[in-house]
Amino acid sequence: MSEEENATFPAEGAVNGDKPPAIEVRNLFRSFGALKAVDGVSFSVDAGQVVGFVGANGAGKTTTMRIIATLDYPNRGIVKVGGIDVVQYPAKVRSKIGWMPDHFGTYSNMTVIEYLDFFARALGYKGQERAERVQDVMGFTDLTSLGDRLINKLSKGMGQRLCLGRALIHDPEVLILDEPAAGLDPKARVELKHLIRILADEGKTVFISSHILSELGEMCDTLLFINNGQIIKHGTAESLKHSAGGITVVNVNLAADIEKLEEWATMAPNVTFKEATKQGGRIEIDSIERDVVATVLKRMINDDLQVTEFHREERKLEDAFIEILGEIEAAGGTTVK
Ligand code: ATP
Repeated sequence: MSEEENATFPAEGAVNGDKPPAIEVRNLFRSFGALKAVDGVSFSVDAGQVVGFVGANGAGKTTTMRIIATLDYPNRGIVKVGGIDVVQYPAKVRSKIGWMPDHFGTYSNMTVIEYLDFFARALGYKGQERAERVQDVMGFTDLTSLGDRLINKLSKGMGQRLCLGRALIHDPEVLILDEPAAGLDPKARVELKHLIRILADEGKTVFISSHILSELGEMCDTLLFINNGQIIKHGTAESLKHSAGGITVVNVNLAADIEKLEEWATMAPNVTFKEATKQGGRIEIDSIERDVVATVLKRMINDDLQVTEFHREERKLEDAFIEILGEIEAAGGTTVK
C-alpha cells in the first residue's frame, strides 16, 4: 500500500473521526550498544498542547525527539504523529512536523534569505509561493531586516530565530523543539518564548525540551520528566511543583518576639521550624493539603503569636525535579508515576 493511502489511518483508540493524538509514543526503546538511551517510554500529546520535556543531560530527550522527527529508528515501540507511524511513513510525518535541533550547523557563505529559500525549495515550494513562505517566516521571526546578513554573523538569538523559521516554512502542525533556549541571553529567551506562545495560540502542538524549568513551567500545559530513559513523572507545572516532598514552606512574620515562633513550632503538630528571618521565620508544614495549612495558621492565631504575615512559599520546578529524582534514588531507582 502506498504511503498516501495509509496516511490518515487513525491511532489506536481513535473512533469515528476522533482526532488522533498529535504525538503518540508507546513503549519506546532505543539502545546504543549496552546503553539504554530510551527505556520503555510511553506518552501522548493532544493536538494543540504545549508539552515540556525535562531531564538532565543524557536522560534521553534528544534520542526520543529524533525518533519522533523520523531521524532515528526505535529498537522497539510505536511512535505516531497525527496517527501516522514514523517508521512506516516518514515522508508523510515530515510534512506534518517542524524540527528544531539543539545544534544548528553554520553556513559561512549563506545569507538568511538564501538559507530559508534553500529549505523552501527543498520542501517543494516554487515561484511566488516560495517567496511568500520565506517572507512570512522572516516576518514572524523578526528577521526581515536581516535578510542579507551572513548566517555566521548572526547573534545566537537571531540564529535560533532563523532555526525556528526554517522549521516553520511548511507551516507544520507539530513543532519539536530541542533545547531552543539553550545559550540564549534573557532578552533572546523572552523573544523566543513569545514566538512559541504565538504558535501555541495558533493551535500548533509544541513539544519542547529545555533545562530552564521555570520558563517551561510558564509556557507548557504539561511537563514530562525523563530520567535514565524512563518517564518518571508527568503533570501540570503546578501539580508537579507540589507533588514532590509533600511539604508546604511558609514564611511567617509576627509582632511578637521571633523566639516565640521557634518555641511554638517545637510543640505544634505537623510543623518544623526551619530558620529565623528578619521579622519571623520560615516553617515547614508536613502536608500540602490546604485545610492542614489553614489549621496551622488558626492555631498560631489562637496561641497569640501576633501573626502579621503568613505567606506560602512558591515552590520551584527545579526543586520539585530534584526532589523527585531523590525519591527515585531512595526507592532504589524505581520509576515513580
Ligand atoms: P542532553 O540534555 O545532554 O542533550 P539528552 O537528554 O538529550 O541529553 P540524549 O542525547 O538522548 O540525552 O542521550 C541519551 C544517552 O544516549 C546519552 O548517554 C548519550 O550519550 C547516548 N547517545 C545518544 N546518541 C548516541 C549515539 N548516536 N551513539 C551512542 N550513544 C548515544
